[in-house]
Amino acid sequence: MTMIRGVTISEAPCCGRHYASPHFLSICIDLSNTWSDGWHEDGHIWGNVEGLCECSCGHYLVRHRDLVHIGKAENTNLPYLEPIDAHRLPKCIEASRRTELERTARLVHWRFLNQHYRDTYNEQRMLHEARARLEWEQANPDRRSWWQRLRGHPAPVYRPARGDVFPPLPFKPTALQIDNMQRLCELLVLADCNDDDLLTLAELQRELSRFDESLATLRRVGEKQQNNLYALIQRLAAEETPAPMLVPC
Ligand SMILES: [Zn+2]
Repeated sequence: MTMIRGVTISEAPCCGRHYASPHFLSICIDLSNTWSDGWHEDGHIWGNVEGLCECSCGHYLVRHRDLVHIGKAENTNLPYLEPIDAHRLPKCIEASRRTELERTARLVHWRFLNQHYRDTYNEQRMLHEARARLEWEQANPDRRSWWQRLRGHPAPVYRPARGDVFPPLPFKPTALQIDNMQRLCELLVLADCNDDDLLTLAELQRELSRFDESLATLRRVGEKQQNNLYALIQRLAAEETPAPMLVPC
């Protein structure tokens, strides 16, 4: 359960403005809706796991890295530093070219641009599930007698098959998506990558249909990080499937 008590007060290093943020005692992330590009279907986090924000002075900040913590309070009238609006991302990328911030802005933009595919996939998946449910209900009508109903005999209940995963759809990234993903690959290749970065790089290479490179990057990932995401990227790259996908729990 996510628990909040009071606020944390921080200072923006760009202009010295003070901001409040909820003081989280614990955070609960629903991992059942996490995608291979790092998108969480969560009101607080969405694709901006890095916490990219825009200060009211116009500077861009990464919440956990750049803000200077100065105290806590029960209540405050200070403004909250909100996550950057998705439509401001191209401007942020332009302003942050050739700095460390460019990578963060492009990561957030990558997930945001994948959202169109995600929406289509979710729509198709729901249609598929509704069809499967209808077919099941037609094949398994409620045949209880009045006596069984009176005695509270339960009606047949539809249960989706366990492990039944709706397959990926064709994924055709736009020129903007391709350009952004290619630049991210360049930035990651140049950086000193940890295992999480390597998984991100392997996923980008897969979504760009560079499947051999993706599998070669995965071979550099340490054993500790060979998790569900690792297995998913490996399977989809081997099958030459480029689409973003839900990570199995
Ligand atoms: Zn500022």
